[in-house]
Amino acid sequence: MLCECSDLLRTEELHLAPYALRARLSRGRVHPEPSHPFRTDFQRDRDRILHSRAFRRLEYKTQVFLSGSGDHLRNRLTHTIEVAAISRTIARALAANEDLTEVIALAHDIGHPPFGHAGERALSKVMENFGGFDHNLQALRTVDLLEIKYPDYDGINLTYEVRAGLLKHRDGISALPDGSPLDPTPGIEAQIADLADDLTYYGHDVDDGLESGLIREEMLEPLAIWQLASEKARSAGLPAPCERFSAYTVRCLIDTMVGDAIRHSARRIADADPQSPDEVAHLPANLISFSPEFEKMTLELKHFLYQNLYFCKELQKLNALSLSRIQFLFDTFLKNPALMGDTARSRLEKDGAARAAADYIAGMTDNFAIMEYLRLHK
Ligand code: MG
Repeated sequence: MLCECSDLLRTEELHLAPYALRARLSRGRVHPEPSHPFRTDFQRDRDRILHSRAFRRLEYKTQVFLSGSGDHLRNRLTHTIEVAAISRTIARALAANEDLTEVIALAHDIGHPPFGHAGERALSKVMENFGGFDHNLQALRTVDLLEIKYPDYDGINLTYEVRAGLLKHRDGISALPDGSPLDPTPGIEAQIADLADDLTYYGHDVDDGLESGLIREEMLEPLAIWQLASEKARSAGLPAPCERFSAYTVRCLIDTMVGDAIRHSARRIADADPQSPDEVAHLPANLISFSPEFEKMTLELKHFLYQNLYFCKELQKLNALSLSRIQFLFDTFLKNPALMGDTARSRLEKDGAARAAADYIAGMTDNFAIMEYLRLHK
């Protein structure tokens, strides 16, 4: 039996909800291409992301802990893979387009600079007077301009829906850089990838915090969501505290958040009853969300993570170091653009030295940024 693209499109027609974005109805690519015999346009986009250099570099970029800090800790690639898996589960449960959700999830951090949030803060600061820096916009620059592999144009020519899905925050943005208008509310698939990103990092950062020793279990005990998850571990007969207890609690934490997101979103979808992706795009608010009860509990967890992990003393020292390294690299490349790599230099004329330097630095892995710093800081 041969399953061709036309069969895949028919399967979408049969199984997807009316509000899901079907590949057949994509607004297409900036540079039109003939369709593929065996993959839908969104499946092709997923493969383009997987085969991009920027995607491979995610393996050596900080999620919370500097690349190479520990064999069990997440990096930006393993984070991304977890986000993609959870996105697919939610999309499937809500009869949204799993392929589109997956590609948005796989690409969502592709524009993230080295050194995690510290890296992004540093780049935003140095770019303050040169148009700013935001990792979501950088993801779009990466797929539109910075990946080079096609004969006639820069970028990897993704579909409109994936590119629009990369812009999480649309305040004040009404069009993509090529002029394609942007709907006020993201599509259901982009909404799913966005919530999956949040709940994935809530779960795995607790896990990595415990693994690294920066978070201790008793610190989590006052949190309502931890109580809910650890109750499940207790009723499974696990004695606290032990490694298996924490690991199972983290597992229950993630599963409970995903379950709540699916059930609550399904109720919101049923209430709004959108009959097309276009209706979703013009609703005043996202349909994909936690229930109010979980919204409150996850917010409490998020604040806990900010206070006790992302801004803890141990990481702050490292963050300050990352900040000064990025600042140094940016100043150096701005003064002497000839020191940058080929691709960055090739964009000098079009984008100016500051943007080319930001692109170059944003693309670096943690390791490469440190090596460049050591090479140039004499
Ligand atoms: Mg992320």
